[in-house]
Amino acid sequence: MYDVIVVGARCAGASTALLLARQGHRVLLIERARFPKDTLSTLYIHQPGVARLAAWGVLDDVASTGCPPVDTVTYRVDDVRLTGSSRPVEGQRASYAPRRYLLDQILVDSAVAAGVEFQDETTAGDLLFEDGRVVGLRCRTAGSAWRRERARLVIGADGMRSQVASQVEATVLQSTEPRTCAYYTYWDLPGPRMALHEASGRWVGAVSTNDGATLVGCYFPQSDFQRIRGNALDAYLDCFRDHAPELYEQVAAEGPIDRLYGTGDQRNFIRRAAGPGWALVGDAAHHKDSITARGITDAFLQAQLLADSLPGDLGRDEALDKGLSRYAADHYDLVVEGYHSTLFVAELTVAEGRLAMLRAVAESPELTELYFSMLSGACSSDDFFTEEFMASL
Ligand SMILES: Cc1cc2nc3c(=O)[nH]c(=O)nc-3n(C[C@H](O)[C@H](O)[C@H](O)COP(=O)(O)OP(=O)(O)OC[C@H]3O[C@@H](n4cnc5c(N)ncnc54)[C@H](O)[C@@H]3O)c2cc1C
Repeated sequence: MYDVIVVGARCAGASTALLLARQGHRVLLIERARFPKDTLSTLYIHQPGVARLAAWGVLDDVASTGCPPVDTVTYRVDDVRLTGSSRPVEGQRASYAPRRYLLDQILVDSAVAAGVEFQDETTAGDLLFEDGRVVGLRCRTAGSAWRRERARLVIGADGMRSQVASQVEATVLQSTEPRTCAYYTYWDLPGPRMALHEASGRWVGAVSTNDGATLVGCYFPQSDFQRIRGNALDAYLDCFRDHAPELYEQVAAEGPIDRLYGTGDQRNFIRRAAGPGWALVGDAAHHKDSITARGITDAFLQAQLLADSLPGDLGRDEALDKGLSRYAADHYDLVVEGYHSTLFVAELTVAEGRLAMLRAVAESPELTELYFSMLSGACSSDDFFTEEFMASL
């Protein structure tokens, strides 16, 4: 009998397992893939996510992979150019973009050091229910037979196609159709940098990662996906050249140092994140377009919220259910603003009103810092769009 079984061992599952083990719970963490393993991601972790890594004592391990800290962002749209950075969060001013096969493994290693039992190449199957509660699951490690594992709490950290979410029939609280599709690859481009280039119908982001490489990602409207996917490399290179020419010219002759990665599966939803004997964290609970690069940061914040919501003793159903209800309510409040601001960015439209607002921001270092703080999640949109600022526009 475990206290907790966590399904999925990437940024949401491994960090949740780590926190719960440190609280003294007996945790089993299962992962279908063989680790370490890469996954689709443009890698960027905003300051609130970096602050979680620091608080959990794993930021030094991330930095020691050679992933450079990035403390200045440049953002260009039309004639507007902003250069600055987000406010620090808990003393963390820099952002990071570590390769996922490094980040996720560091989190798993820390979880194991905290006492978590980790089994990769292990697939979760059916959940076990008793009297309307989840009480465990069936799982199978590669080459072995299906077995049953019991736990007081099963946590689905199994991504946006979560089997845990579908088996508990987690209510979808909000959803909307995909708005973009994304392609990216790596270039031998010196950093550190975080550069955003926005135009109507296009978005280019460049961020420094491990091994001296820079990831350059391009976003297109979802309505173009079927057309673009037939010759995605050409569409990607055209977009990079047209919208970030000063970067493109530095590397065009050598070409990318990896193949092109991409997806049109940019779902947008918020699910109810907990019920009797179960909880969801990360993409399983909430997925949105990757254009604002918030999934990893959100996964860390959700992991922390869940760990803070649970009682010390998971053996009493009443106290556990109270903690899970609190988590479900607070989870919605945690993610809903970022969900809507991401949907807005993912429209890929550059309206004249927004350009006027950004021109005003560019004239003020204080407003520039506040704007980048809103993008990072270090402050809310209410902190930025104050009555005074709106009146000044
Ligand atoms: C193109 C793209 C770019 C992105 N860029 C960024 C970015 O720059 N910054 C950012 O913060 N976020 C970004 N994201 C989003 C980010 O990658 C995700 O939000 C994040 O990976 C979610 O982590 P997770 O742990 O919740 O889920 P996942 O990363 O999906 O991990 C789920 C894990 O569960 C395992 N699993 C699934 N089913 C089972 C099962 N039945 N049994 C056992 N294991 C199972 C899977 O093997 C997987 O390892 C991007 C996403 C995409 C697609």
